[in-house]
Amino acid sequence: MEDNYRHKGMRRSLVRIITEKGITDSNVISAIGKIPRHYFFDNALVEHAYQDKAFPIGEGQTISQPYTVAFQTEKLKIKAGDKVLEVGTGSGYQACVLLEVGANVYTIEFNKPLYERTKVFLPKMGYSPKFFYGDGSQGLKAHAPYDKIIVTAGAPTVPSELIKQLNIGGVLIIPVGDHKKQRMLRITKESDKKIKKESFDYFSFVPLLGEQGWKK
Ligand code: SAM
Repeated sequence: MEDNYRHKGMRRSLVRIITEKGITDSNVISAIGKIPRHYFFDNALVEHAYQDKAFPIGEGQTISQPYTVAFQTEKLKIKAGDKVLEVGTGSGYQACVLLEVGANVYTIEFNKPLYERTKVFLPKMGYSPKFFYGDGSQGLKAHAPYDKIIVTAGAPTVPSELIKQLNIGGVLIIPVGDHKKQRMLRITKESDKKIKKESFDYFSFVPLLGEQGWKK
């Protein structure tokens, strides 16, 4: 795995692109500027690594678009040491960004081959979140509660179990909609009985499967 001046140059222009699109959080920007996204790509596809677009990673899944990763992370307002659950490990790129901004990361993936692959690959890059295999539409009860939860697949509705697994004051960021596009929602758990819901732009994710997601 080589990270040379050409890769660093391409990464600087990616940082320019996401800041022009409106990302302002300096921790998020430096995370994107630091993580060698081309390590997630085959050698022949390196040119694609620093374009601001999603890309297939096998198993019918994608590595999310850098702007989307930055947007969701920024909206979580992560503080150092926050306990964060990521639903949809995928390639592991988003987990690296969460670790770079100081989170204590629990990440769950429902696709067994992807889970196996990323669990081995990410530590080789020096990133070691806690990996879990299972249906993250139901959260990860064994380690709850969390300060923040990020869902990186499109859900039909907000899974109530995810809100249950948040601390009071905790924040969930989740794309909700149909198979074509989803609205990014931020849910803040103000008390056990009260949540605040904010809506942002539309995005396009692969579907969240499982008990509180789409049926296979
Ligand atoms: N965060 C990933 C990254 O940085 O590469 C991108 C994730 S990809 C857009 C969505 C992922 O969610 C896929 O890997 C998919 O297998 C996973 N997924 C779908 N339903 C899930 C569920 N119920 N629990 C956990 N993961 C799920």
